[in-house]
Amino acid sequence: MSDFIQRWPNAIVHVDADCFYVSCERLRRPELHGKIVGVLSNQDACIVAKSYEAKALGIKTGTPVWDARKLCPDGIWLQPDFCYYGQMSRRLYRVLDDISPEVEPYSIDEAYLSLNGLRGYHRRGYGEIGSLLQEKVRAMTGLPVSVGVATTKTLAKLASEKYKPYGLTVVDARGIEAFLDTCAVEEIPGIGSNRAALLHKFAIDSAGDFARADRSQITRLLDKPGEQLWWELNGQAVLPLQMSAPAPKQVAKTSSLGRVTGEKRRIWAMLSFHTFRLAATLAGRSLQTKRLTVFLGQKDQSFAGETIKLPRHTDAYPALLETARRVFARHFRPNRLYRNCGVIAGDLAPVNLNQSDLFGDWEREEKQRRRALAVASANGTSGRGTIFPAVQLPIAKIKLKGVREARLLQDVIAVA
Ligand SMILES: [Mg+2]
Repeated sequence: MSDFIQRWPNAIVHVDADCFYVSCERLRRPELHGKIVGVLSNQDACIVAKSYEAKALGIKTGTPVWDARKLCPDGIWLQPDFCYYGQMSRRLYRVLDDISPEVEPYSIDEAYLSLNGLRGYHRRGYGEIGSLLQEKVRAMTGLPVSVGVATTKTLAKLASEKYKPYGLTVVDARGIEAFLDTCAVEEIPGIGSNRAALLHKFAIDSAGDFARADRSQITRLLDKPGEQLWWELNGQAVLPLQMSAPAPKQVAKTSSLGRVTGEKRRIWAMLSFHTFRLAATLAGRSLQTKRLTVFLGQKDQSFAGETIKLPRHTDAYPALLETARRVFARHFRPNRLYRNCGVIAGDLAPVNLNQSDLFGDWEREEKQRRRALAVASANGTSGRGTIFPAVQLPIAKIKLKGVREARLLQDVIAVA
């Protein structure tokens, strides 16, 4: 490529925590390092986060837990703790705010930062600021993050996902073409399997092919969003950072069930997965909801479900899940077939961050955890049927060994 191309006409970092929920759990339970670990949407549903060890064995996000148990009998499956993940997310964002004044919160564990004009402030190049960010996050929160530094948001996200975990990928304007040739079209953010299949028909197989394709062809195939991707992959930033996105009216998490099915467990697994994703989005955007719609889409295109007015604004996963469970129990019919399902949060309000000192909360919780741990070890090995609050389960488990662990975890959850 020509030497006339300026290396950094624009500098964006995309930062993404590596298996965020599992990494959070490992921070408070170091013995989970190197183990097959997954976080469940709830006790009898599906996997919402997995360690790289679990991924290597074929566990995917959305895998029903009974399939996961078959694939990995030694796996450790944990109940989610959104309150804690939300606190870790806020700690992560505090570090990001120290790196740049321009941060776009993208999700509970993902953000974009503009680095323009910050080389002097940090006294280093853009790539090195990416590395500094990684080190600071590790030092201040303990979380491993992957980082991509590039000239547009799309390139930065593609770069951060290229080498995980703890990857640092720097793509300046001169390196774009070589980098894109190493990426399949499926890796481009926003290109799902249907769009990828369409692109393959036109011999657009790599992200490099996509960027070199005629822009009008991409627009014909993928409309305006495709055209935006084309500009972004060619190094022209057309997607601005959204520092203060207007609060959404509602947040929806829905999907097809993959096939028409009447299998109750599978449908509930998917519905609880969506509830989990909803809670994650609310936590990531510091929003609470007071109105939850839960629906099941039937084979004949009609819908079953209802909208529940919650007693107060909440972002608490257990409360949302319990509401979803109640609606599901009322509306699921064993003799019917379903094609999709979902949850929609309405009547949204921002979390009042002034209500409590978050860091104080954090320390208080840490103290409570340490106290509970002391109680658990004072009790010695806990017998079957011992009752713990669900959040203390991991602590109860520490004293137990081998395969029994997983079974006992289930038993304890059953009575918790
Ligand atoms: Mg992540």
